[in-house]
Amino acid sequence: MAVHNVTLIRGDGTGPELVEATRRVLEASLEGTGSSFNWDVVEAGVDIMETAGTPLPPNVLESIRKNKVALKGPITTPIGTGFRSVNVALRKELDLFACVRPCKTYEGVRSRYEGIDLVIVRENTEDLYAGVEFEIGSAEAKQIIDMAPGKIRQDAAISIKPISRTGSHRIIKHAFEYAIANGRKKVTAVAKANIMKYTDGLFYEVGREVAKEYEGRVEYDEWLVDAMCMQLVQKPENYDVLVMENLYGDILSDLCAGLVGGLGVAPGANIGEDTALFEATHGSAPKYKNQNKVNPTALILSGLLMLQYLKEDAAAAKLEKAVSDVIAEGKDVTYDMKPVRTDPTAVGTAEMADAIIAKMRAA
Ligand code: NAD
Repeated sequence: MAVHNVTLIRGDGTGPELVEATRRVLEASLEGTGSSFNWDVVEAGVDIMETAGTPLPPNVLESIRKNKVALKGPITTPIGTGFRSVNVALRKELDLFACVRPCKTYEGVRSRYEGIDLVIVRENTEDLYAGVEFEIGSAEAKQIIDMAPGKIRQDAAISIKPISRTGSHRIIKHAFEYAIANGRKKVTAVAKANIMKYTDGLFYEVGREVAKEYEGRVEYDEWLVDAMCMQLVQKPENYDVLVMENLYGDILSDLCAGLVGGLGVAPGANIGEDTALFEATHGSAPKYKNQNKVNPTALILSGLLMLQYLKEDAAAAKLEKAVSDVIAEGKDVTYDMKPVRTDPTAVGTAEMADAIIAKMRAA
C-alpha cells in the first residue's frame, strides 16, 4: 500500500491523448489495492517551446529528480531549430543507461508470429550514439586516418564507437538482474565480436564475467548480430532476454516490435541507477493529433512496466489480463488493430482505455 509520486510528462502531438488514457487506466488498476498515484503533471515538447522558449523546461528534470519515476508521452523532435531531441536529452541528463523493451505476442494482434515473449535490454549511453563524429576533410578525421595507415580512405568521414568496461558491465548486470526479478531463464549477449574484436570483444568478455555470478540461476549465451537477426525471424520463441550495445539494440528493438505487431503495441522503459522513465517506443504521430484515434496500448503497456517497477504486481497482472482480453476480443480496439484499417467499428483512444478499465472492474 503506497502513494506513488510520479512525474507525468504529457508530450506533444498525440502524446496528451495517450497520456490521459493511460493515466485513467493506471488509476483504475490500483482500485482496491489501497495504493494510489500522486501525479506531478509537467509539459515538455514543441507546444511548451512556444511559451517557455525551450522544449525541456527545467521543472521537468527537477520533478523527475525528485520523484525518481516518470511516465512520458511521445515528444516530437523539432527539425532544423537547433534543439536536440528531448527524448535523448532526458536519457542523458538522468543517466538512464538501460532501455528495456519487452516484445510479447498478444492474441488478437495482427502478427505473423505467436508465442514470442522476449525482452531487449539496450545500452543507452555509448557506442556510435556517443556523438563522437568527424566530418570529411576535418583535421581530426585526418589525424585518425594517419593513425591507421592504409585502412581508411582520405575522403572518409569518421564516427567513433566507444564501448567501455563500465558501460558494458552495468547494462549486462542489469539484464541479469532483470532476468532474476522477472523469472526469466536466459540472457543472450548480441554483438559482432568476430569483426570488432576490441569493442564487441570487450562486451562479450564482460558478459562472461557477469554470467559467472549468476551460474546455475540464469543461462548465458552469445550470438553474432547478423545471425541473431535470422534467428529472430525464424525462431523468435527461442529467445528470452537479449542484451546489446546501443546501435544493435536500436535496430533489433524495432525488428522485434515488428514481430509482435508493430509500434502500436511496443512499450519501453528507460532505467538508471535510481530513476526510471517509462514511454512507448513509437513517436508523437503528429498527423493524428487531437483526433482521439491512435492506439494507447504501447503507452498503457509502458505503464504496466511502471507498475511492476513500483512493485504493484497485482495491479500489473490485472492490467495485463484486461489489455490482453480487450485485444483478443478485437471489438473495442483502435483502427490499427482491426483487420482493415478503414473498419468503421474501430474505437478511439479514450474508448479503448474505457474498455480496458471496464474489464479490470469486472474482474
Ligand atoms: P511515429 O512513431 O510517430 O509514427 C510512425 C508511424 O506509426 C506513423 O504512421 C504513425 O501514424 C504510426 N503510429 C505511431 N504511434 C502510433 C499509435 N500509438 N497508434 C497507431 N499508429 C501509430 O514516428 P515518426 O513519424 O517517425 O516520428 C514523429 C515524431 O516523433 C518525430 O519528431 C520523432 O522524432 C518523434 N519520436 C519521438 C519518440 C519519443 O518520444 N520517444 C520516439 C520516436 C520518434
